[in-house]
Amino acid sequence: MEAKNKLRMTKQRQVILEELRKVKTHPTADDMYQMLRKKMPKISLGTVYRNLEILSESGIIQKLDVGGTQKRFDGDISIHSHVRCVDCGRVGDIDVAPKYNIEAEAQKMTDFEIFRHRLEFIGLCPICQHKKIAVA
Ligand code: ZN
Ligand code: MN
Repeated sequence: MEAKNKLRMTKQRQVILEELRKVKTHPTADDMYQMLRKKMPKISLGTVYRNLEILSESGIIQKLDVGGTQKRFDGDISIHSHVRCVDCGRVGDIDVAPKYNIEAEAQKMTDFEIFRHRLEFIGLCPICQHKKIAVA
């Protein structure tokens, strides 16, 4: 582990990290709590929430605050984009990056110092597409 990530890995924290890395669903703290309870019946929602925050602050996981909805977490910290369903809030991965250096381009237009950017696509997930057809 890198020197800057001198985070103490408690047993609980380790299990939370492992479970998050297993899924592609970008779970909320609530979702994670439901998943973890089967393995650790004594764990509390507060503990799950706190550990997810600590892990994301340390850069070990990614926090997605997309569109003012409930915070979601991603065990995949590689650079990738997300697509969010406008109906149910489900978040999926899209392995696409801008074809040109969008950060350098943006930097020319602002006095802010740009660190990174986020690209979020909005749409309708397959399940919600089917619901729309069913009620039509
Ligand atoms: Zn949906
Ligand atoms: Mn992702």
